[in-house]
Amino acid sequence: MSLSLGELQQLLDVLQTLDVGLVIIDRQHKVQFWNDFMANHAGQGSEQVAGKSLFEIFPELPRQWLEQKTETVMALKTLAFSGWEQRPHPFPFFSYRALTGRSAVMYQNLTFMPIASGNGNVDKMAIIVYDVTEAANNRLALEEMNQKLSVLSRTDPLTGLLNRRSWELALAEEFARCRRSGRTSTLMMFDIDHFKQVNDTHGHQAGDQVLQHTATLLNNKLRTTDKAGRYGGEEFALLLVDTDAQQACQLADRLCTALSEQPALVGDKRISVTISAGVAEISEQMEQAQQWIKAADDALYQAKSAGRNTIRLASS
Ligand code: GH3
Ligand code: MG
Ligand code: MG
Repeated sequence: MSLSLGELQQLLDVLQTLDVGLVIIDRQHKVQFWNDFMANHAGQGSEQVAGKSLFEIFPELPRQWLEQKTETVMALKTLAFSGWEQRPHPFPFFSYRALTGRSAVMYQNLTFMPIASGNGNVDKMAIIVYDVTEAANNRLALEEMNQKLSVLSRTDPLTGLLNRRSWELALAEEFARCRRSGRTSTLMMFDIDHFKQVNDTHGHQAGDQVLQHTATLLNNKLRTTDKAGRYGGEEFALLLVDTDAQQACQLADRLCTALSEQPALVGDKRISVTISAGVAEISEQMEQAQQWIKAADDALYQAKSAGRNTIRLASS
C-alpha cells in the first residue's frame, strides 16, 4: 500500500491531533515530518529535527534493525510492524499514561508505512508509534501473577521445597534422562526420628518450625540442579543429579552433622533432631521411576530398624 502526498497531507492533519506518534523519514532516515506527539515525547519541536537523521536524534535506536525495516518496506512497498513483545522500547520515550507507576518507560508498537512520491517511487517511510504501556503493563502483571501461581502450585507452603507431586514429576524426568544418557543420579529419602515426640513435647507449631529449619539446612547443602521435595509430613526426598551413591552418602553425613550442630531455635528453646536416611543410586534393573523410590524407601526403613540416626545404602 502507498499514498500520494496529497492524500498524505490530509492524513497528517488528522494524525497531528491523534494520540500516536508519526514521523516521516527518507531513505537516509532524515526526518521530513514529525507530529506533536513526537515533539512532546522527544522534547524537540519539528523545526529542530527537520533534516536530521533519526539516529542522530536518538542514538539509542537499534540501527541495524531499523535500517533493515526501512529497506524491506521501501523495496517491497509494503507495511511492516514491530510489537512491544519483541522490541519493548525502540524510542526512548516515557509514557504519561502509566497509571500504575509500575513503569514509566513507554512500551511501543510501531507500524512502518511506505510513502510513494508522485512518480510512484517509494522514497519515504512513515513510522507510527503507538503507546501501549498500559496494555503491556497489564499483561506483564498478569504474567508475573501466573508465574507466582505456578511456583505456588509446585511448592510446599511450609518449607518452600517442591511438593510431592512436582518432586515426583522431576524424578520421572530425571529417570528418563539417566536412561537416555547412561549417567548416574542418586535418590535419598530421609525421615525425622521420633518427630511425634517433638510435637508432643513442644507443640505442633514448634514442630512446624523444626521442619522449616530442616529444609533450610538441606537447601544450603544442595546444588541448583538437585531437587528437594517434602515427600510427606516429616519425610523428605532428594534427587541428586549426576551424583553417585558415595557422594550422596557424604552429603547425607554432612546434613546429619549440620542438624546436630545447629538445633532449631524456637522461642528460647533449642530443638535438636536426628534423621534416618536411605540412599539409592539408579540401577540398570529399574524399569520405572517408582522402583527407584522403593529402593530408597526400603533403605530408609532399614536405617530406622537399625536404631535411627543413621544412613543406609540400598543394595543394588
Ligand atoms: P520415627 O522415628 O519412626 O520416624 O517416628 P516419628 O515419631 O517421627 O514417626 P511417626 O510417623 O509416628 O510420626 C510422624 C509425626 O509427624 C506425626 C505427625 O503428627 C507429624 N507431622 C506430620 N506432618 C506434620 C507437620 O506438617 N507439622 C508438624 N508439626 N508435625 C507433622
Ligand atoms: Mg519420623
Ligand atoms: Mg514419617
